[in-house]
Order: sequence, then structure tokens, then C-alpha cells
Amino acid sequence: MADSASTVSQIYAQTLGVIEAVEPRIAGAIRSELTDQRGSLKLIASENYASLPVLLTMGSWLSDKYAEGTIGHRFYAGCQNVDTVESVASEHARELFGAEYAYVQPHSGIDANLVAYWSILAHRIESPTLERLGAKTVNDLSEEDWEALRATFNQQRVMGMSLDAGGHLTHGFRHNISGKMFRQHSYGTNPETGLIDYDKLLADAREFKPLILVAGYSAYPRRVNFARMREIADEVGATLFVDMAHFAGLVAGKVFTGEENPVPYAHVVASTTHKSLRGPRGGFVLATNEYAPSVDRGCPMVLGGPLSHVMAAKAVAFAEARQQGFQSYAQAVADNAKVLAEGLLKRGVTLVTGGTDNHLVLLDVSSFGLTGRQAESALLDSGVVTNRNSVPNDPNGAWYTSGVRIGTPALTSRGFGAAEFDQVAELITGVLKATSPLTTAAGTPGKAKYTIADGVAERTQAAANELLDANPLYPGLEL
Ligand code: PLP
Repeated sequence: MADSASTVSQIYAQTLGVIEAVEPRIAGAIRSELTDQRGSLKLIASENYASLPVLLTMGSWLSDKYAEGTIGHRFYAGCQNVDTVESVASEHARELFGAEYAYVQPHSGIDANLVAYWSILAHRIESPTLERLGAKTVNDLSEEDWEALRATFNQQRVMGMSLDAGGHLTHGFRHNISGKMFRQHSYGTNPETGLIDYDKLLADAREFKPLILVAGYSAYPRRVNFARMREIADEVGATLFVDMAHFAGLVAGKVFTGEENPVPYAHVVASTTHKSLRGPRGGFVLATNEYAPSVDRGCPMVLGGPLSHVMAAKAVAFAEARQQGFQSYAQAVADNAKVLAEGLLKRGVTLVTGGTDNHLVLLDVSSFGLTGRQAESALLDSGVVTNRNSVPNDPNGAWYTSGVRIGTPALTSRGFGAAEFDQVAELITGVLKATSPLTTAAGTPGKAKYTIADGVAERTQAAANELLDANPLYPGLEL
């Protein structure tokens, strides 16, 4: 991954020395994190390994600058360099995704989604209300009109995918602000196929009449037809908001094209930068020109000062994603996920929807008599890092769950291909078969404790080490 690894090694080693002199425990944690990431099979579908240029860009004095506002229109003096950073990042994002407008300030995916929601409220509810009342801003409203407007915001309806069908918390879940801010109605998946049922979605949308239709997911292992989503939104007068946090890399890498590319169909698209897109931790929003002015109000509506050092790293990551090699990477992510899914299926593992056509695979581990929590822990003991996840209508709820979600973006960045992912499937199946739940005091199978047959975890870690050593992370980087 690094051409000039020895120079970068020196830079990092010296940097860690500087940190060590102030707080050795933090330098130690940074070193240990590299050791841990190098020594385990990272299969968390939402994680990746950012490049050294991306990581290095974040460690700069751009971090010290306040720059609330927008490019060329800041509430602080001396923002000329941040203006450059934000313009370059925004230009790359527009070009990469073919979007009319890109807003790169959100600090994370959740922030990006909040910016998206509020921009839609501003465009659809606030602006027409102000116009009707002959007011320029909310400051011009009477107390009575302002109260009425605030009440109207809360009565709006949002329709997103339910958490256990694979949606994200921010798509209207009751314990998230999106579920409290809006009246919400979730759509699920067809119980037989596990797939989105667009006809049912349309029927539900006709009845519920959402202001915002949310498409996108965290744990749905299939592609979405965004043309169909837009038709549904248009039919019920909703704004189509797509959260592409998980699959932005597959859009950028031109694996999702035509009706599977959300950008031409959505009014507003939000995303993270750190998952399949392989950038720094952060978020961004794309919008049509119609929605752009309200998206631009993200700061101060939802956000404080932008993280200029992270915006700079986003620019570097977008520039990387515009290079030819990124398309091969993104294609490999999807191809490898297929191999992983087929490898698991042929070894008898049950998969939600029976496979994948994106970057993630959702295992239903209940056929092994395990909860997701037990499977996740047993895999971790064996050097395989995953996360437990609900399956549709999960009887074990969101804490213990019945599923484990895995994905290919990180190990594909490390160079894993089909042969390696087939071996990963073998290792995962071996651990699941060798794991049993421990019974509770009442004699029933417990949901958290488990035991792994002797030697399996050690043998799995040893086999994982061989794969990892053959595909080193940040080769040549010695700390
Ligand atoms: N949207 C989706 C679909 C996600 O999967 C996630 C994170 O897992 C987010 C938003 C939130 O991203 P962040 O953790 O950066 O706030």
C-alpha cells in the first residue's frame, strides 16, 4: 500500500516518539492498534484501512483552525487555507460521484444524515412557510408563527428501512433522534426472500405519505434499485434521501451503475468516508442544485466548526478514489464478497437472502445453536473480527442477535482475493461448528457464554496468520 514506506516509517516512528514524551500510554495504544489490526482478519463490513497519505493528512495544524460557515463566507478571519481544502474536497466529491453539489463538512455519517434531514425540512417546510408568511428568515416570524412552524417540523413523516431488516438507526429507529424527530414508518423485507418488496413499499408509502423516503442500509446484503425508489418517492410526493454510507466505495468504483447508482435518482445523498470508500472517518452530503442551498446550512444548523484536517484527508481519499486502481479495488470487493458467501453456503452456513451482491454477507448463526454474540466472541478468540447483527425479525433482539455481519472492504485492501476469501469461509465455518453455548443455571442454553472445542481457536489464529503475513498491512512500516 505504501511506495515510500521506509520514509513514512521514519516519520511515524519519530511522531510516536514525540507523543510518547507527553503521554506514553497513548503512543502505546497507537502501536498496539497497528499490531492488533495486522494480526487479525478484519471482516467488519463498515471498516477499512485508510492509506498512509490519508492518515498523514489528518495529523496537521489544519486541525487548529476554526472555520464555521461556507467556502468564502466564514464567521472567522484567516480561513483562506481551509477554503482551499474545502473547495478541493468538494470538487473531487462532485467529480467522483457526478453530483451537482457536494458538502464535505459533516464530521461523521450520523452528522451527514442530520444535515440531510434538516436540509430537506428547510427546503420543503421552512422555506414555503416563510414565503407564505412574507418573512425572510425565522427571525421575522411572530412568536405564534414560529411556534406553529416548530410544531410542523415534528409532524413530518419519514419512511426508512427497519433496523432488523438492515436499515440504520438514523433511518427512523425509535431510540435515535430520527425516530423522535419524525413520525416514522419502517419498511422491512419479504419474509420469504429477504429482499425489499418494492410493490409493498409503494402500497405502504401511498398510505403513510412520507415527506422523506430513506433508502440505504447497514446490513442488507443486496443492491437497491434507486430508480424504483425514486418512482415511489415521486408518486407519493416524498423527497428521496439515500444513505450510501456503506456502499459509497462501490458507487465511486463504478460497481453500482445505472439504476443501482443512487446519485442520479436521489434528491439528497449522505455518506461516510471511512467504510468502503477507504477515507478518513467522516461524512459528506451530495445534493441536486435545488437542495444545495439548504444543505449548505449544515453549519450552524447541525454542525459546529468543520474539522479542516479531516476535510483535507477526505480530499486526498476522493483523489485516490478517482484513480483507475480504485475501480479494480471496488470490483474486487464485490467479487470477493460473492466468493465468501459461496464458500460459507457450500459449507452449510445459512445466509440472509441466500447470498450477496454487494460488499457484505449476513450470517444467521441460529442453525449452529448460537446467538450472534456468542459467534462474534468465539470468532474474535480465533483472530476473526466481525460484529453481531440482527437478522430480520430477530428473536434475540438487538443485543444478543442471531446474526453476524461480515464484509470484504478491509481484507480486499490488504490484497486478499478469491483463494484467500474461500479460506476465510473455511475458518469461520470451522469456528462456528466448534462452538457451543454454555447452559445457564436454569439449564437452558445461555445467550452470552460459550465454549470452543480444544485447539480450534489456536489453529484458526495460526491459519489466519499465514494469510495475513502473505498480505501485510502497511508493508515496510516498522514502529
Ligand atoms: N449510515 C449508515 C448506513 C451506517 O451504516 C452508519 C454507520 O455505521 C452511519 C450512517 C453512521 O456513521 P458514523 O458512525 O460515521 O456516524
